[in-house]
Amino acid sequence: MADQTESESRKLLGRLRDTLAEEGAGQARLDRITHLIADSMQTEVCSVYLFRDADTLELCATQGLNPEAVHKTRMRVGEGLVGRVARTSQPVNTEDAPATKGFRFMPETGEEVYSSFLGLPIQRLGETLGVLVVQSKEARRFDGDEVYALEVVAMVLAEMAELGAFVGEGAALTALHQRAELYRGTVGQEGTAEGHVWLHEPRVVVTNPVADDPEAELARLKEAVETLRVTVDEMLDQVDTGDKDQRAVLEAYRMFANSRGWMRRMEEDIALGLSAEAAVEKEQSTARARMETVPDAYLRDRLHDLDDLSNRLLRILSGQGNETGAEMPANPVLIAGNIGPAELLDYGRQLKAIVLEEGSVGSHAAIVARAWAIPLVIHAKRITAEALNGDHIMVDGEQGIVHLRPDDNVITAFRDKMAMQAEAQKRYVSLRDKPAQSTDGAVVELYMNAGLMADLPSLDSSGAEGVGLFRTELQFLVRNKMPRRQELVDIYARVLDAAHGKRVQFRTLDIGSDKVLPYMKPTDEPNPALGWRAIRVGLDKPGVMRMQLQALIRAANGRPLTVMFPFVAQFDEFKTGRDFVHRELEREAALGHVLPVHVEIGAMLETPSLAFAPRQFFEMADFISIGGNDLKQFFFAADRENERVRRRYDTLNVSFLTFIERVVERCAEAGTPVSFCGEDAGRPIEAMCFAAMGLRKLSMRPASIGPVKSLLRRVDLAAAKAAIDEARGSGNQSVRPAVMKWLAGQSR
Ligand code: PEP
Ligand code: MG
Repeated sequence: MADQTESESRKLLGRLRDTLAEEGAGQARLDRITHLIADSMQTEVCSVYLFRDADTLELCATQGLNPEAVHKTRMRVGEGLVGRVARTSQPVNTEDAPATKGFRFMPETGEEVYSSFLGLPIQRLGETLGVLVVQSKEARRFDGDEVYALEVVAMVLAEMAELGAFVGEGAALTALHQRAELYRGTVGQEGTAEGHVWLHEPRVVVTNPVADDPEAELARLKEAVETLRVTVDEMLDQVDTGDKDQRAVLEAYRMFANSRGWMRRMEEDIALGLSAEAAVEKEQSTARARMETVPDAYLRDRLHDLDDLSNRLLRILSGQGNETGAEMPANPVLIAGNIGPAELLDYGRQLKAIVLEEGSVGSHAAIVARAWAIPLVIHAKRITAEALNGDHIMVDGEQGIVHLRPDDNVITAFRDKMAMQAEAQKRYVSLRDKPAQSTDGAVVELYMNAGLMADLPSLDSSGAEGVGLFRTELQFLVRNKMPRRQELVDIYARVLDAAHGKRVQFRTLDIGSDKVLPYMKPTDEPNPALGWRAIRVGLDKPGVMRMQLQALIRAANGRPLTVMFPFVAQFDEFKTGRDFVHRELEREAALGHVLPVHVEIGAMLETPSLAFAPRQFFEMADFISIGGNDLKQFFFAADRENERVRRRYDTLNVSFLTFIERVVERCAEAGTPVSFCGEDAGRPIEAMCFAAMGLRKLSMRPASIGPVKSLLRRVDLAAAKAAIDEARGSGNQSVRPAVMKWLAGQSR
C-alpha cells in the first residue's frame, strides 16, 4: 500500500479519535467527522447515513450535500445506492453514479452534480449500523488503496458509534443498545419469563480503535497471536484422539492462527492506524458478514471457527476475560451463542429463561431447560451482539419471541399474559392431589419424565404418580467421563428415596443419534437416528449396560425395581435384554447383595415394527411404554430434529391415532399395561385424544401435569372418542379440527 495513503490514513484516524475527546453532542462530532473525511479523501462530499429503525436509513451528517437534507433524507434498505450498500454489506464504487443501476435521484440533497460515488457499510461484528459515502464531481473510480482506507475509517466509525460518540437528537442518533428489539426464534421450551440479561460470554468492548504507534500495535498483535497458537496447541494435546469432531475444530483454529492471509490483513489495518484490537475486530466483522451469506455449510462452520478464534484473540489482547467483575442481575435470563449441558447446569436453578442464537429442540440444553421448567428460545439471531448485561428482557417461550428492552405497551401486554398464566398455575396447584378423572369416570394416571437431580423436587410439587420415564443417559451426558458404578448406585438410590415408594421406570442408557457421549468413541454413521443406538449398543457392547443394571439392582436395595429398554425393534432384542437383567440379578445375589423385592421389565415401543411383534412379546413384557417422539419420527419418516419437517405431520393425524389405538388393543389382549411417554403426552389436547384411544397412563414433563389434568377432569372421554370416530369416518386427515370444535361446544 502506498506510504502516502498510510500516513494520510493514520493522520485522519488520529483526528477522528481527537473528536472523541472533544466536548459536544453527537451531531457536532458527526459534522466534524464528515468534514475531516472529505478533506482527507479529497472529495467534495462525505455523508454518514445511519439506521433510524430496522428498515430505514437517514442522512445524519454531510459535508458537501445540502445541509437542509440532514435528518430529512431517508431511504429504505435496498433503495438507491446507499440502500444497496446497507442491504448487501458490500461497497458500491462507481464513476458515474446517476447511470448506475439502482440510483435514486433525491432532489433535496443536490447530489445530481456529483459523478463518482463510493459507499461502504459501517459495520460492527457483522452488523450494519449505517453507510459511509464519499462523492466527487470528477468522474473517477476510487482505487483499491482508497477503498481500503475508507473501510478502515468506516470500522472506526462503527466502534465510535458503539462507544456512544454519535448520540444526539432523533431516532437515528439514539444511543446503541437502548432501542427496543424483537427477536423471532424457535420454541425450545414453552413458558414465559421476565428478567434481566446475563451474557454467558460477555463481549469485548474495544475502547481504543485508533493507535498512534503502528510498530507497538504490531508487536502486541504478534505476541497475542503467539499466545493464541500455544493455547490452541495445548487444547489439541488435551483432546482425545478419538474425538474427531473436536479435533477437526481445533485443527481449523490452528490453521487460521497460522494463516498468513489473516495476519497480513490485520497488519495492513494496523499500518493504516487501527489498534491491534480494532484490526482483529475488523476481520471478525468481515467474517461474520460473510457467514450470513455463504450457502455452504462447511464454509459457514469454518467462518464460525474464525469468529470464535477472533474472540479468543480479543480477550488475550484486551485482557477482558469472562470474569468482568459484573454482578449477575436479579432474575437472570441467560443469553448465549450456544451452551452445553454441563456449563448450563453450573448456573443452577436461578435462571429465569434461556435464549440462544443456535441450539436445537432436541439438544441437551433443551432437556435441562425442560427439567427446570424455564422457557428456552433458540435461533434468536444476533442477540449476543445487541444485548447488554442487565438489559430488561421478556421471553415468550410459547411463540419463540424475545423482547429486548421492551417498550411500555409490550411490557403491559406481556405482564397481562404472565398474570393469566399465573392464575392458571394456581388452579393447577389446587388440583395437585386430585385424580385426572374424566366426567364419565375414566381415571388416567399422570406420571412425570425425569433424568436430572434437578427434576426430583417436582415429584412432590407436580402431583405426579411417579416417574414414567427416567432418562438415565442424562447423567452420562452431563459428565465428561464415564460415571463409575458406585456413582450410579448413589444417583439411582437418591431418585428412589425422593420417590418415597412411588413407581420409577428407569430406562437403560439411550445413547446414539443426537445423544453422543463426549468420552465415547464416536461412530461415523450416515443416518445416526436409524443407526447404532440405544438397546442396539447395549446388546452389542454389554459392558456399560451390565454395569448400569448392577447399579440399579444395588440402588433398589430390596425395594421394587422397574427397568425398560429403549428402542426395541423386535422381540429378540427384548428377550436378550431381559435375560441380561435376570443374569445380573443372579450374579448380584451370588455376591451377597439384597435383591429388589420385585422386578418389572418393560420395553419402549418407538419403532412401528414392534407394534406387529408376535403375541408372545406382549405377553412377556411386564409393561410397554410408547416413546412417541421417536415413534412419530419413524411412523412419518420425518426427522424430529429437522425444523423443516418436524411439525409437518400432526400427532392427531388419523393414521397415527389409529396406530396408537391398535397398540393399546394389542396390549389389552395380552393384559400388558401400556403408557405413553413422548412430549405429546404433555400437550392437553393430544393427551385427551390418547386417553380417548384407551391409554390410561401418560408420562410428561412435570409442568404439563397441571394443564393436562385440568382438561381431562373437564371432559367426557367417551364423547371425545365419539367425536374422534366421527372425524375418522369422514375421511379427515387429522382429527384436530373436529376435536377443537367439539371442545369449544363443551365449554359453552
Ligand atoms: C421418545 O422417543 O418418545 C422418548 C420418550 O425418548 P427420547 O425422547 O428420550 O428419545
Ligand atoms: Mg426415544
